Amino acid sequence: MCQEIMPALFRLKIPLPDSPLKYLNSYVIKGPDRSLIIDTGLNRRECLEAMQAGLRTIGIDLKVSDIFITHLHADHFGLVTKLATDTSQVYFSRPEKELMESWEGFGTMIKYAGQNGFPENELQAALDKHPGAKYGSEWIPDMTLLEDGDGIEVGDYHFKCVATPGHTMGHICLYEPDKEIMIAGDHILIDITPNIQCWSDSQNPLKHYLASLEKVYGLKVNLTLPGHRRLIRDHRARIKELKHHHSERLAEVLSILNWGGMNAFQVASRMTWDIDSESWDQFPVAQKWFATGEAISHLRYLEEEGQLVRDASGPITLYAVVK
Ligand SMILES: [Zn+2]
Repeated sequence: MCQEIMPALFRLKIPLPDSPLKYLNSYVIKGPDRSLIIDTGLNRRECLEAMQAGLRTIGIDLKVSDIFITHLHADHFGLVTKLATDTSQVYFSRPEKELMESWEGFGTMIKYAGQNGFPENELQAALDKHPGAKYGSEWIPDMTLLEDGDGIEVGDYHFKCVATPGHTMGHICLYEPDKEIMIAGDHILIDITPNIQCWSDSQNPLKHYLASLEKVYGLKVNLTLPGHRRLIRDHRARIKELKHHHSERLAEVLSILNWGGMNAFQVASRMTWDIDSESWDQFPVAQKWFATGEAISHLRYLEEEGQLVRDASGPITLYAVVK
């Protein structure tokens, strides 16, 4: 599906088979000389075909197109090497590229998940189903690295990069102040809440995420173009809902821990999730994995706020409420 949202700015819905996200919104700006594609889809046939069909409809030639990617997740980044040509600029965030380069495989993550109570026999199954493992890009192309405040020009559009760490640590939104639009990647979504996961005891992504929501709240935006689902008219109303969601989640985690110290996997199993399964045991293993990462981001936040203590002295890390 191809829709012209504003003059020369198109939205392509790239299907994400088997994903609750349903599709990725790729935005394409057709410029007089060069065009810009924002976010790409998974590295799989269904995505490539939808992208090629959409570009054909708009009349975009990949030989004179550049690509901007909001963050490193495979549904945004995966298809980049199938689209970039010898002359394409691939714009990407500096911290995000450093993250990709320092990536040592899932080993560290598996170990950390085990320390957080994730049953080891389920770990490999979770990762086999991980979209990043199956449909990521085969290699990392040469990229033009961006930082907060950098500009990207295409046709009549003058975008400014807004660093919005949280969903990933190098996530970037594109803001067009004259047209009052923001291309939001997975920073702000509607109908679903962006997943904020933590897989390290030294990070606090939820804290960054809440600060990034605040940063974007201050921008004058008339239309937000998210990476999935519907376009957002009132970004401030949605930001208020997202902040409310996380404050409820934090309260829920605290009330769960009032029953006694627990590991993150146990906390996740007691949190409420909007997943079509009768019970935690019946959750698909990939969903348990996402849920545990999300539980850890809330636990880490509460720990740094001084409301929880973490005991990592044994093989399994336990969290308890500060009395
Ligand atoms: Zn994402």
